[in-house]
Amino acid sequence: MEALEQLKIEVTSCTRCILSQKRTHVVFGEGNQFAKIMCIGEGPGYYEDQIGRPFVGKSGELLDKILGVSGFNRTEHVYIANIVKCRPPGNRDPLPEERATCLPFLLKQIEIIQPKIIVLLGATALKGLIDPNAKITQVRGTWLEWNGYQVMPTFHPSALLRNEQLKRPAWEDFKKVVSKYREIVNPEHFSAHC
Ligand code: SF4
Repeated sequence: MEALEQLKIEVTSCTRCILSQKRTHVVFGEGNQFAKIMCIGEGPGYYEDQIGRPFVGKSGELLDKILGVSGFNRTEHVYIANIVKCRPPGNRDPLPEERATCLPFLLKQIEIIQPKIIVLLGATALKGLIDPNAKITQVRGTWLEWNGYQVMPTFHPSALLRNEQLKRPAWEDFKKVVSKYREIVNPEHFSAHC
């Protein structure tokens, strides 16, 4: 059995933290397992929990739009996962211990997928993967190197929905992702907008 499928089976029955108690579905992640870009968000919200897929509500629509104008889509270029795989009740932020308990699953996903570029969507993804003390407002738009991966932190799409003024800087961050993708993955990559 493929490693990612095997991991998915393990995660789907996980009860390692209390987030397992109120979830409807585990949201493992989805996309092309050979993708060169991984987008990592915070955790499932209401709609993601209901249907078991990442980024399916309004945030997901916006993420798909941003990916689309960058010339990327979920089926070909991107794999999407979250820091925690089960929905925190009431959409609260996942607690540090919940993040830490779930993190090995994400690390395994990264190890299997071996992306070239990791896009961190929001503060929780940044803190969960890189540094609990990092601030998204300070490091967004800056390339970080983590375990040999090129990492671009940017705002979470839900933050863009709450604050229109963040859309411009987020778009600038994705333009950098497109440039990096052309540099290290495909020089011919087409985006109509940059
Ligand atoms: S959030 Fe992660 S560690 Fe917690 S129960 Fe779900 S899969 Fe397991």
